[in-house]
Amino acid sequence: MAIRNVRTMGDPILTKKAKEVKEITGRTKSLIEDMLETMYEYDGVGLAAPQVGILKRIVVIDIGEGPLVFVNPVITMTDGEQCGSEGCLSVPGKAGMVTRPNYVKVEAYDENMEKFELEGTELLARAICHECDHLDGKLYVDLVEGELADVSEEE
Ligand code: ZN
Repeated sequence: MAIRNVRTMGDPILTKKAKEVKEITGRTKSLIEDMLETMYEYDGVGLAAPQVGILKRIVVIDIGEGPLVFVNPVITMTDGEQCGSEGCLSVPGKAGMVTRPNYVKVEAYDENMEKFELEGTELLARAICHECDHLDGKLYVDLVEGELADVSEEE
């Protein structure tokens, strides 16, 4: 496993649409392992493959309840609304208020290419929306209501 370099805003790869994963190879598995390690290293709630420079539809999330891996995730249902502060490892030192659905249902494949369906609310719903946006080359900064604020670096 290895910690990968996280691309930051201004890097053109963050604005590109990621490609579907056709099969899970050894390289894909090590990418997923590295993404998890990188997310934990930087205390992120989620990480999408384009953030480490790989244009593949892979997302990892951990809202404090254990790691979740999503390959080719598709949000199939949303409901409700929540407005809260959001940040991104690709936009270090910043945060802003973003409105997201309060509930999402997502279909995806796991690291063994087994299909699964998952429902999330609140922070998990927010994280799924945020990370899936990365796969379409979108950053949360375009959704921020009001100003993007500076946040102090955590000790
Ligand atoms: Zn992000």
